Amino acid sequence: MHPTSSVHASHGRPTATPRPAGLRQGVRTHVLVVEDEGDIAGLIRHALERSGDTAVEVVSSGDEALRAATEHPPDLILLDLNLPNIGGLEVCRLLRGRPATATVPIIILTARTSEGDRVTGLDAGADDYVIKPFSLRELSARVRAVLRRGRAAEPTPAPLVYRGRHLVADFDAVSVVVDDVAVKLTRREFELLRYLVENRNRVLSRDRLLERVWGYDHLIETRSVDVHVGRLRGKLGEAGKQIETVVGLGYRFVE
Ligand code: CA
Repeated sequence: MHPTSSVHASHGRPTATPRPAGLRQGVRTHVLVVEDEGDIAGLIRHALERSGDTAVEVVSSGDEALRAATEHPPDLILLDLNLPNIGGLEVCRLLRGRPATATVPIIILTARTSEGDRVTGLDAGADDYVIKPFSLRELSARVRAVLRRGRAAEPTPAPLVYRGRHLVADFDAVSVVVDDVAVKLTRREFELLRYLVENRNRVLSRDRLLERVWGYDHLIETRSVDVHVGRLRGKLGEAGKQIETVVGLGYRFVE
């Protein structure tokens, strides 16, 4: 029943891990390199760390990349397309779908030269691509350019405040009020409410809620979604009725 069992099966419940040793204090930029060819990864590390203000973390598979990027979102990801297990394009799509990594710049490294592959990479959410073999000077220049663009466009998400008949939810201020009474939600309930409200009037499947609210690699059952929705409804009182069960499909927040 679970859609993500291939990743779930490969590692257990994520545990808190210390920040990778390479990420020293005072280092401004954290680059995650996803490359299964060790010598190429080593060259990239050497080239990028030369500047002294960049720390490079290297992983060699798609599932490690997803875990590392979600636990410590880097400033930039260099992503090889041709990886064992989960391919680079899929990794790119998954990273884009997760709140923690949705806006992290991604540069794809590809040995393929057809325009189609590059377009597919950009469609999957990559910011730029570099074709192998590349010069380290070119790669460093692309990295600097993408980081500059990222800093120029510091994320300024539109403030999201929902005002309904009973419910007023300010998702920036983390404030939820029902009929003038503040409601205390757990972080997960808050994120669940936010996702339901952001996608109001749309049916959201349990699998989708799991992936977007809990994250792709959390080892939990789709049934837990029902439990959390039940609790959230209870806490929201009258406004809880806005969360409808759509039998056989999932849930919908209705206006
Ligand atoms: Ca490769």
